Amino acid sequence: MGTQFKYFKNPLTEFSEEERLFRDSVAEFCLKNLAPNWEKYDEESSRSPVLRPELFSSLGRQGILALTCRPESGGQGGSQTMAAIAVEELGYGDPSVATAVYTLLNIGWPYMLDRYGDPSVSSEIIERVVKGDAFFGIASTEAQGGSDLSNLRTRLARSGENYLVSGTKIYISGVNEVFGLPFGGGWFLLGRSGGAGHKGLSALAVLPKWKGVTSSNTTHSVFNGMGRHGLSTGSVTFDGFEVDRRNLIGEEGRGFYVAMEGFNSARILVAAACIGAGRWLLERGAEWVKSREAFGHRLSEYQSVSFRFAELYGKLEAARMMVYRAARLHDRIYLEKRPGYSPRDLNAPVALAKMWGPETAVEIAQEVMRWHGALSFVKEHPVHRVFLGLLSYVIGAEGAQNVMKSVLSRELLETHEKTETHPDKSDTKAKAR
Ligand SMILES: Cc1cc2nc3c(=O)[nH]c(=O)nc-3n(C[C@H](O)[C@H](O)[C@H](O)COP(=O)(O)OP(=O)(O)OC[C@H]3O[C@@H](n4cnc5c(N)ncnc54)[C@H](O)[C@@H]3O)c2cc1C
Repeated sequence: MGTQFKYFKNPLTEFSEEERLFRDSVAEFCLKNLAPNWEKYDEESSRSPVLRPELFSSLGRQGILALTCRPESGGQGGSQTMAAIAVEELGYGDPSVATAVYTLLNIGWPYMLDRYGDPSVSSEIIERVVKGDAFFGIASTEAQGGSDLSNLRTRLARSGENYLVSGTKIYISGVNEVFGLPFGGGWFLLGRSGGAGHKGLSALAVLPKWKGVTSSNTTHSVFNGMGRHGLSTGSVTFDGFEVDRRNLIGEEGRGFYVAMEGFNSARILVAAACIGAGRWLLERGAEWVKSREAFGHRLSEYQSVSFRFAELYGKLEAARMMVYRAARLHDRIYLEKRPGYSPRDLNAPVALAKMWGPETAVEIAQEVMRWHGALSFVKEHPVHRVFLGLLSYVIGAEGAQNVMKSVLSRELLETHEKTETHPDKSDTKAKAR
């Protein structure tokens, strides 16, 4: 496996010395731990979900999990750019994107705990996530629709110092991880503590399995997805599940805004995972078209192939610039707190990266499959695993593509379409970071 072609110098996506060293160490980790195993992981889990606690612990030892949480909360104190670097490499090392998505969820959502949660609750969770003992993702989607968050129905009813959570969350990543890991885990759960609309929503850290104990007020099921098998997806039903009020993330009634910030962080990383997988695909495609012959010539000698290759290379470069632009902006806003930058500045660049990254990677996958002809239709060939894993991100995981377009058009044309991303204009008051 070699690079097969040149990546041109790009001052716009240049990394610092520290970032380069970090990228090289993650790339080495991936080469050793993921590249030889990802197909086996994907195949085994396609039959029935298999947990990889040893892989999660090794991600923890590598210093990647809860990367952007502050050291005083038990995190790694890294930047969003470093998180994007890590997730891009994981997407390249395991292009089914299962490992990258496991990681990005366990970066993006603990980060929101760190920013808005009660410090003692947050650090207890982050300290476990960082070692790979516990999973902490996002549970917002419900059966009546994932895009229109203002219509969520899961109830968060006050009962003394607790909330009683009742409702069903569906298509949730990490269900088997939460209930299967010996220690457990949970989610940033968005539910209704007040009246109708997005202002009635609050966010809670819910931990249906914690310290090895599973709550009796929850039931779950794991779905049989068509790709990205190495990370489970399923549903969880809460039936008067008691959650301490200290587990509130942000103020009551402000959950929508906190979730939107979390999506902005996680979506940058989703796009980073996709460009990592896209890079893997393009390299495998180059390897193939440079060696496969038809009618006495290598495929790469036909312009219908080489021009398409050039186009896809360009699209991938564009997607990569969008990812690192959004990541650097995130750092300016949240880490460096530069004057003149606000969280709203992130909405359009993140939507652009999430809109462009998955679409480009899926387009590359389809073309690379065509170049391989019938071989790509054989299940033993790895390309279809990448295609199917990536499809989840054009279908809707971490936000449907039309929702990204709606964010962009709202910012560009000042339209006021009614979608999840149409909150009032105030930003959630962030704790000092
Ligand atoms: C593999 C996978 C993992 C997932 N993991 C999680 C998870 O961990 N946690 C979680 O909470 N959710 C998760 N989801 C769910 C995901 O967030 C939702 O799929 C997504 O939010 C879209 O919701 P929906 O599927 O209900 O589609 P809907 O919201 O019903 O949308 C259906 C279609 O309508 C379009 N649409 C919606 N609104 C508009 C509009 N205003 N204008 C034009 N078109 C519109 C959408 O683009 C989409 O094509 C996951 C999904 C997948 C596939």
